[in-house]
Amino acid sequence: MRADPKTVAALEAELGADRLERDAPLAPLTTFRVGGPADLLYRARTEDELVRAVQLVRELDAPHFLLGRGANILVGDRGFRGLVIRSEVGGVEIDDGTLVRAGSGVETFPDLIDRTVAGGLGGLHHFVGIPSTVGGALWQNLHFLSPAPDRDRTIFIEDILESADILTEEGERRTVSPDYFEFGYDESVLHDRADVVLSASFRLEPTPLEELRRVMRENLEWRDERHPDLWLYPCAGSIFKKIEGIGAGRLIDECGLKGQVHGGAGIFHKHANIIVNLGGATARDVMWLIDLARETVESRTGHELVPEISFVGEF
Ligand SMILES: Cc1cc2nc3c(=O)[nH]c(=O)nc-3n(C[C@H](O)[C@H](O)[C@H](O)COP(=O)(O)OP(=O)(O)OC[C@H]3O[C@@H](n4cnc5c(N)ncnc54)[C@H](O)[C@@H]3O)c2cc1C
Repeated sequence: MRADPKTVAALEAELGADRLERDAPLAPLTTFRVGGPADLLYRARTEDELVRAVQLVRELDAPHFLLGRGANILVGDRGFRGLVIRSEVGGVEIDDGTLVRAGSGVETFPDLIDRTVAGGLGGLHHFVGIPSTVGGALWQNLHFLSPAPDRDRTIFIEDILESADILTEEGERRTVSPDYFEFGYDESVLHDRADVVLSASFRLEPTPLEELRRVMRENLEWRDERHPDLWLYPCAGSIFKKIEGIGAGRLIDECGLKGQVHGGAGIFHKHANIIVNLGGATARDVMWLIDLARETVESRTGHELVPEISFVGEF
């Protein structure tokens, strides 16, 4: 885009020059806190703004990336050449007592969970402590392995999804049912199609407040023991996809890589499938550890580690 002032001018004319941030740092917009700037950043505050921005970059054939909470991505040190569209589409409406509609940029935690729990509604509370927007949650089929006494029961966002309003890859605005998303573990049709989630509706259940609080407390305690505190250890959660019955983290641990440090990044000492920013990490540092884990695990165990996070921009 730097090379194409005409595209920049067209974006400014349509979206408003005052709404486009130039050389916008992306690191603070990610939970890893790593990576360079975007040539341009646009914060879409309404569904119509999100639709307009996406339609425009499609018309202009301009490189773009759709950003949510930035909790499942690694941005390259040289940043992103093009327009990053951040969904800040807000709004939470509780319709008929149990149907909750939320904009794609609403953060499931804390905003949506706080709101629904305060209304005595259960379903989303399982995802307490996980950073995500509504859009990102559908992209990845947000999930949580429930701790005792329900251990081994993975709860997915698809379980409570009623419908979603999307802008399709073909440019049509549609309301779709959960089937449309072809959800799997860490999977949805959004990985293969450039559809954009505008908002989603969730069917929740009236639940006593003590029960909601108990589950949230247990889940947070479970997470505290295993997961990094984002304030101390910025990260993007699990780096590699689950390996059924074995565990990517366990393989990395068995290869003796837990606690391995490179530059400002390290393999988390409590959970080997998580790489953390120990302070001043670069994307290059993180990539070095990703490569180390992949090569070591493959050569010692024969298992292939496949990254779960998305790599954005130039490295
Ligand atoms: C500490 C920590 C713990 C975590 N624990 C868990 C966990 O227990 N379970 C779990 O499932 N995940 C976990 N994660 C991963 C992360 O929270 C989820 O993947 C989350 O859903 C990402 O949402 P996001 O809004 O940050 O998406 P982003 O990281 O911003 O984007 C991810 C992808 O979603 C796409 N996307 C974003 N918004 C939209 C939209 N409106 N329409 C279409 N596509 C969109 C983006 O283009 C991108 O491809 C964890 C992450 C961290 C940092």
